[in-house]
Amino acid sequence: MLIFVVLIALGAFYGRSLGGFFEAPPMSYSQFRAQVDAGNVEKVELAGARVSGHFTKAVAVEEGEEPVEEFVTYLPSTGDDALLPALRASDVRIETKPPQDSGAGWGLLLMMTLPLLVVFGLGWVLYRGMQGQGRQLFSVGKSTAKRIEAEHDLKTRFTDLAGTSGAKESLEEVVDFLKKPERFTKLGAEPPRGILLVGPPGTGKTLLARAVAGEANVPFYSTSGSAFVEMFVGVGASRVRDLFADAKANAPCIVFIDELDSVGRRRGAGVGGGHDEREQTLNQLLAEMDGFEVHQGVIVLAATNRADVLDPALLRPGRFDRRVSVDPPTRSSRKAILEIHSRGKPIADDVDFERIAAGTPGFSGADLKNLVNEAAVTAARADAEQVTAAHLSTARDRILLGRVREGMALSDDELKVIAHHEAGHAIVAAVLPNTDPVDKVTIVPRGRAMGVTQQLPESDRYITDVNYLADRLAVMLGGRAGEIVAFDKATTGAADDFKQATRLARRMVAELGLTDALGKMAFGDDDQEVFLGQEIGHRRPYSETTAALVDDEVHKLLDIAYERAMTVIRNNEESFRALARRLVKDEEVDGATVLEIVGEGVRPRLVS
Ligand code: ADP
Ligand code: MG
Ligand code: ZN
Repeated sequence: MLIFVVLIALGAFYGRSLGGFFEAPPMSYSQFRAQVDAGNVEKVELAGARVSGHFTKAVAVEEGEEPVEEFVTYLPSTGDDALLPALRASDVRIETKPPQDSGAGWGLLLMMTLPLLVVFGLGWVLYRGMQGQGRQLFSVGKSTAKRIEAEHDLKTRFTDLAGTSGAKESLEEVVDFLKKPERFTKLGAEPPRGILLVGPPGTGKTLLARAVAGEANVPFYSTSGSAFVEMFVGVGASRVRDLFADAKANAPCIVFIDELDSVGRRRGAGVGGGHDEREQTLNQLLAEMDGFEVHQGVIVLAATNRADVLDPALLRPGRFDRRVSVDPPTRSSRKAILEIHSRGKPIADDVDFERIAAGTPGFSGADLKNLVNEAAVTAARADAEQVTAAHLSTARDRILLGRVREGMALSDDELKVIAHHEAGHAIVAAVLPNTDPVDKVTIVPRGRAMGVTQQLPESDRYITDVNYLADRLAVMLGGRAGEIVAFDKATTGAADDFKQATRLARRMVAELGLTDALGKMAFGDDDQEVFLGQEIGHRRPYSETTAALVDDEVHKLLDIAYERAMTVIRNNEESFRALARRLVKDEEVDGATVLEIVGEGVRPRLVS
């Protein structure tokens, strides 16, 4: 309100005093002189170079325009000595004023202070608004627990999810426990109290948690980590307290904390201390998780896509000690998800979910749901009776366009490159003698990695030998080698491999005494590099020459490893290409299949 009044006053004032803005456009000087000579000027006002005044008879400034009586023009910078005599000759009334007359005195003062007044006014209004908001926030701070209300009678079931069978299996135990806790407690068996669901966005973590509550038919308390971290100190911690108090009063129940990483980041990491408020909240969370007995029947599920940044204290036994990974869907899962979300929608006969699944690599469950929904919307707009293949294809293109901008859409070519990259890793891992067996190769993007080759050790390793490490280096560089063999073109996809391989090679040289050139001496700091602050203050305890030698040795190790990877892939090029083709088709290939493709003869070995 105040602002409007001020603005109007301002507008009116400037409008009047800077009347020039609102006058007719200036006319040319020659036109003005012509009017003077014609005797059509009644009065002029001279103020510096500005000449304004009245015509006797109205004149059009430009042809076709309304004739005007008033005029403005400006003297040429050279001046016009002939003007005054000419004006006098035609008996024009002349008034003179100082240049740029702006109604000095009060007017000038007002003009200078008005903008200031406006700024202060605005500030005042904002300040008032903020105060009001602050009060509101404070009052909310107390009662937020009420906002985290339990949902009863959840309708979500495991059958609403597809492609997360591994996760479902791990969670079935929780459902059993929540349904019949006595059966477990009688035997002294404890189910996990905290389970961490780890996976990229949109893969169904929230849905899974709801399904657990739905299957067990218990109340579901959900909140998100970011809701804990508020502007005002202490609110987060008190929210955590309230949440757990409510949950305990209503056990058995599920507490679900989304985006756990937003409160659960490593404490004290980075320079200059952590975020106080977040730390308090996290400490409260840890205290609460320790503070209830499992037989009370509260099970905490949390979701994150960044398990690597979580505070180790959160992952200790008795807290989030169980981890369930929720992977992005493969082709066959995508088909199943599409079918789930098409339930109850009139789908035309020409729709082939198999084909749509094949055409949507990299789509998450949420994307697929969105796809079906977009298609239905498209169909509805077209007044169609059914959702057809054409509608789905339009919807897919629209979503893909959006994703291209996000840099996530995979073209067929990219998919091929990734497939050959992963096939490279996998073949080297399968062929070299001292490696862990390949468990799974996938080109479904997860997180920053566009594909993954997973190896599982046959048994736990406590001590590794140099051959194992050398083979591991070769496996790490097998990705790039695969790209080169297949396309003779390096891509950016190997950046992470190089980082890891370099780190390993550096350790082999500098810490493990595994190269002859440097002998049996440790040059590195074997302590973890958790704190950035530590790194900054760190000084190398050895000379420049030694540092150069370490670099040389690291370089050599990596070169040898890369050459070995190249050799393996070239010697098994047929299997390599076959595996890549298979990856493009199925997106995920298990270890047994890799061995089958490589050929039993190469390296007979059990796959666990
Ligand atoms: P997240 O919590 O992992 O980010 P959500 O559980 O919020 O993902 O998923 C968003 C929506 O996407 C869900 O409500 C569901 O409709 C759909 N969705 C995601 N994953 C799946 C899946 N595996 N099966 C069926 N639907 C899924
Ligand atoms: Mg979610
Ligand atoms: Zn790689």
